[in-house]
Amino acid sequence: MTVAGLSTYDPDNVFARILRGELPAKTVFEDENVVAFADISPKAPVHVLVIPRAAYVSFADFVKRASGTEVVDFFRTVGLVATQLGLDDPGYRILSNIGPHGGQEVAHFHVHLFGGHPLGAMLPG
Ligand code: AMP
Repeated sequence: MTVAGLSTYDPDNVFARILRGELPAKTVFEDENVVAFADISPKAPVHVLVIPRAAYVSFADFVKRASGTEVVDFFRTVGLVATQLGLDDPGYRILSNIGPHGGQEVAHFHVHLFGGHPLGAMLPG
């Protein structure tokens, strides 16, 4: 589905292929709606990507098209994954890149979960 300002979902994006089992992933959590796996190029001691199984291009697409229940359940699950990874104390960071200015490389909605050491400034510079 095309959403104003967003490109159409590409079913052959890397994360769609991971969801179909066509590419390997180090999965740390999965349920019927959500999968979390290690980022292939970690930027922190813990760097996990949390994704919905459903096809959304980005955070912007997700919050426009998903039901309220889907949105709430997804973000609760992000928090659950962080808890299960032992990140609640002393804390962690979540981030989602949207579109070219956001630096989004993979056009399947995902939240980055970073932790395991002090993460420093929110943005470089
Ligand atoms: P973004 O710039 O927010 O779209 O981030 C995409 C992330 O996906 C990057 O941090 C990549 O390192 C990560 N990535 C790309 N391919 C894979 C893969 N096959 N398995 C795990 N992580 C990946």
